[in-house]
Amino acid sequence: MQNITILGATGSIGSSTLKVISENPEKFSVIALSAGTNVEAMKALCIKWKPKFAAMSDHNAAHLLEKELKSLNLATEVVAGEQGLSFVASLDEVDSVMAAIVGAAGLVPTMAAVKAGKRILLANKEALVMSGRLFIEAVEQYGAELLPVDSEHNAIFQCLPELVQKSVGRCDLDKYGIDTILLTGSGGPFRYTDVDKLQLVTPEQAIAHPNWSMGPKISVDSATMMNKGLEFIEAKWLFNCQREQLKVIIHPQSVIHSMVQYRDGSVLAQMGEPDMCTPIALTMSYPERISSGVAPLDFTKVGELTFLEPDYARYPCLKLAIEACYEGQHATTAINAANEIAVSAFLNNQLNFTDIAVVNERVLSKVCSQSQQLITDNLESLLELDRMARNLAREVIRERSL
Ligand code: NDP
Repeated sequence: MQNITILGATGSIGSSTLKVISENPEKFSVIALSAGTNVEAMKALCIKWKPKFAAMSDHNAAHLLEKELKSLNLATEVVAGEQGLSFVASLDEVDSVMAAIVGAAGLVPTMAAVKAGKRILLANKEALVMSGRLFIEAVEQYGAELLPVDSEHNAIFQCLPELVQKSVGRCDLDKYGIDTILLTGSGGPFRYTDVDKLQLVTPEQAIAHPNWSMGPKISVDSATMMNKGLEFIEAKWLFNCQREQLKVIIHPQSVIHSMVQYRDGSVLAQMGEPDMCTPIALTMSYPERISSGVAPLDFTKVGELTFLEPDYARYPCLKLAIEACYEGQHATTAINAANEIAVSAFLNNQLNFTDIAVVNERVLSKVCSQSQQLITDNLESLLELDRMARNLAREVIRERSL
């Protein structure tokens, strides 16, 4: 029996994780669940799963939830705020932590799990984008285990030799004959839309992903391909890639979830239905395999598999994120923060779809121009840099709406 905490339990990844647990009730025990503000959803989860702890990042939401659970005579203890999230992420009795909070809010609780030496099932890519080397060094220092949930990184992980799998964060790709990691992406809902029509895209259109069902922020990121950019940065840290070892390829059908190309010409690919329960199940059971509840891939129905180069005029956010990756930590922390503010403004109808890239570009260039004065080797400085980039992004959005 493995004891688990799910950070971001009310979200898309959180629900899929609970689905995998429902498939394998004898293997997992839910010790703690966390959410941001959604009291109703958390109440329903507490009734169903009876966790020992429920953490709400919002204090008012925690207070409300506590009242509701008391009236139902449930024994679940409610904790609040970032401290509460970090507490449930580092409980002694917990073996694995599903890190599935969306955005930068996931960094501190995920780091708490790392520092407690847990098995980290990492969905919250933003934590790694924001803190890169610091995160990987902490994994090593505290003896945590890092397993990638993101479908592409999970696919890459599955295509690597076992010895490389055991060294996530400090892989030596060259030593094991690995030439290139091919990070695939569907291209999102607008891959065939006229580029000059993209500014008219609505939030409803942007979150309707053709292949995957996901939370709103990552759905918009998939439409701009910022998600692939964040994944590029994530892959660099997880697999310790040099620039020439990592390549993005558009694969509209999302049947192949990524590939690894070896020196001898072999290419290993991981395939399956586009359902996050598969990679989640692998991280939960690794090195074993358990049932995920996902239907087997029917090759007679798959049809044609196609591949193309990404078009940076259509996906400027992808280009910016790749540039940021090689600029340094200040750049990736800043672009991640700017993008969160820009996506949220877009979802609230305060910004055009194409302006997301404009905000990201302005913030990135401003932060890069000050890079000499920025400190990025400790968590507090990175959080400060994140706040600064958010403020810059808000300024750019204000200017554009005048
Ligand atoms: P959702 O928006 O569906 O869920 C987000 C979760 O985080 C919810 O439980 C939400 O709680 C919680 N949350 C939001 N804000 C805060 C906050 N400030 N503090 C604490 N908790 C908060 O997101 P997804 O499940 O889609 O994505 C989660 C992460 O997984 C992201 O980093 C994403 O990039 C990554 N990922 C997602 C994939 C997917 O298929 N969805 C695929 C690969 C990676 P509440 O309900 O109260 O708002």
